[in-house]
Amino acid sequence: MDKTDIIIIGAGPCGLFTVFEAGLLKLKCHLVDYLPAPGGQLSEIYPKKPIYDIPGHPMILAKDLVSNLLEQIEPFNPQFTLGERVESLEKSEAGMFLLKTHTGTTLQAPVVIIAAGLGCFEPRKPEISNLSEYETKGVDYIVKEPELFRNKKLVIAGGGDSALDWCIHLSDLAEQITLVHRRTEFRAAPESISKLAELEAEKKLQIILNAEVTELKGDQHLQSVAIKSETGILELECDHFLPLFGLSPKLGPISDWGLAVDKNAITVNPTDYSTNVEGIFAVGDINTYEGKLKLILCGFHEATLAVQSAYKIIHKGQKPSFKYTTVTGINKI
Ligand SMILES: Cc1cc2nc3c(=O)[nH]c(=O)nc-3n(C[C@H](O)[C@H](O)[C@H](O)COP(=O)(O)OP(=O)(O)OC[C@H]3O[C@@H](n4cnc5c(N)ncnc54)[C@H](O)[C@@H]3O)c2cc1C
Repeated sequence: MDKTDIIIIGAGPCGLFTVFEAGLLKLKCHLVDYLPAPGGQLSEIYPKKPIYDIPGHPMILAKDLVSNLLEQIEPFNPQFTLGERVESLEKSEAGMFLLKTHTGTTLQAPVVIIAAGLGCFEPRKPEISNLSEYETKGVDYIVKEPELFRNKKLVIAGGGDSALDWCIHLSDLAEQITLVHRRTEFRAAPESISKLAELEAEKKLQIILNAEVTELKGDQHLQSVAIKSETGILELECDHFLPLFGLSPKLGPISDWGLAVDKNAITVNPTDYSTNVEGIFAVGDINTYEGKLKLILCGFHEATLAVQSAYKIIHKGQKPSFKYTTVTGINKI
């Protein structure tokens, strides 16, 4: 089991910046996120949108802010567990937190900082009666490891950026890709729509419009899907079905950890963003207090103060000494 100083639940901007502030105090961090890549809402919802209220950046694209944060925390060597949802969090009598993810990864630390934003992004699932039977047996809602799809027959459903981007990305890897979309129009970046048309013309994938997957079949593992369209029902051989209809956030397991919660947010003490459970802090969109604003820069401030109190817990009452980075520089840990 991996041990660290601080476990951070959520690798959105506030979770990432927490690593930086903790690193200045020589505290090691391990981040866990359900999404396959860091960045939270910035990567998942609006990567190409400009942000205008990050201090020192008159304008920065959300995806560039994430890249910059990753570069900024690199010297502190944070560990990442991605594509895994934190399911349980328990405190031992010795004051250590034991965290477990849905795939069974376990981590241990004296401090946990929850930077879980709006909660866990859960996949929007299509209504197919036997869908759950094939989860982990050929049905995938997020692409965690593209190599898994090498030389496989894929059916991808959806008409947004995620479905189109993965069709394009996997077209060189998969043996066969069929994109199934309920409508005739796609809601994706124009360049992705053009690229998709090119790939279809080159016979690198096929597109079935005004259609939906209605049934999954297979023994032990997915073997085929039934696709209903205006022309009838087509049964298509496939190894993996990827319904990529986007993700919606849910507080999920966090509500079971004994934390004081008000309207889907964790109540914190605004002097250091500590929760009602000693050793657990909450920063960013996930917390609430009087005057709370769900802004990235507010989350950065919260993370800065939270790690000061975290230090005292980790170093049994000792206070961190306050120093400017202009004086200390960045010391790798
Ligand atoms: C369209 C849009 C535009 C915006 N524009 C601005 C702007 O201009 N300026 C600004 O300051 N803010 C803006 N915001 C708000 C800003 O994006 C949020 O304040 C910010 O993302 C909060 O960061 P966070 O790190 O707290 O959470 P998030 O970015 O939500 O990240 C939380 C992460 O925690 C993960 N997570 C949650 N629960 C679990 C679990 N149980 N296990 C594992 N992982 C978990 C999630 O998968 C997610 O990746 C905008 C938001 C949207 C939607």
